[in-house]
Amino acid sequence: MNKKFFSGFSFVLFVFISTAQQRPLPVIDMHLHCLHADEQGPPPLKIGVPFRDFGVHDPANDYRKAFTNALKTSAWADKFIISPTTDDSLRELTLAQLRKYNVYGVTSGDPELLRVWKKQEPKRIINSLDWNFGLAKKYGLTVDTLEKLFSSGEFKVFGEVTIQYEGFAPSDTAFEPYLALAEKLDIPVGIHVGCGPPGAPYIGAVNYRARLHSPFGLEEALLKHPRLRVYAMHAGWPMIDDMIATMYTHPQLHVDLGVICYMLPKKEFYFYLERLVNAGFGKRIMFGSDNMVWPQSIGEGIETINKATFLTAEQKRDILFNNAARFLRLTEKEIKDMF
Ligand SMILES: [Zn+2]
Repeated sequence: MNKKFFSGFSFVLFVFISTAQQRPLPVIDMHLHCLHADEQGPPPLKIGVPFRDFGVHDPANDYRKAFTNALKTSAWADKFIISPTTDDSLRELTLAQLRKYNVYGVTSGDPELLRVWKKQEPKRIINSLDWNFGLAKKYGLTVDTLEKLFSSGEFKVFGEVTIQYEGFAPSDTAFEPYLALAEKLDIPVGIHVGCGPPGAPYIGAVNYRARLHSPFGLEEALLKHPRLRVYAMHAGWPMIDDMIATMYTHPQLHVDLGVICYMLPKKEFYFYLERLVNAGFGKRIMFGSDNMVWPQSIGEGIETINKATFLTAEQKRDILFNNAARFLRLTEKEIKDMF
């Protein structure tokens, strides 16, 4: 036996095995943001992973100050992660998380910034288009413009649709032409249904209302557009009964676990997820980090799913990958390339 060849061969084999071992099974993040470092307020900001509680507010004081203070000092959390202070570090740290956990992210944000991220990680970044009435006005994102953007192939997903912050339910007639377009072009739509920041109407989103957390607001839209692929971002937290009733009634509806998977007190998140799975919807729950300016939230969210003792290994893989791959209609080759 040629000893030199053998040792060379075992070296190659070793490298092959260790490379294969280093790359975890793929994850699809259905809810990733590409933001500027100061888009959630002046950095650095600390977010709870998870929050211990959501504080106590004396209305004699300014809630905006109390909220900002909680993010500056981590007053509501025992464990927290800190946001980077520059756009470059936010991008680099986010892309590093994607590589570390082998994540492919449906990513939305400032289109110019998104192009920079996409150029750096063309396979891991799946372009998605942020939309609400305010953005439409600011950037001229009319139905015609959207038709061009989606038809060009640059944007694969329509979301995050954040009209809840503006006081609109997804079935509002004003949003109707956009849903009609997405149905016509077969573009999946991710709609924010669930939680924004605590106290949202007091920190700028003046039309945000608690009642719009309910996925019941999706019903008429789903019925009017039966071929539309829709997912309720944040899984309609905390409206568990409404969410289950809506998924039961509308078999095409999916959800993502954005922000709730790392930010909510663990007991509450697991209670919510377990109920959705127990109710029979484990094949329609998709992982989402909703990372904004805290890159480590991606890994935190994935680990929270992996540590759920009530989920089988197969259920974890469904949530982290299989359900989204099916929902996005990825081809066999596209799926294979992600491993
Ligand atoms: Zn959201």
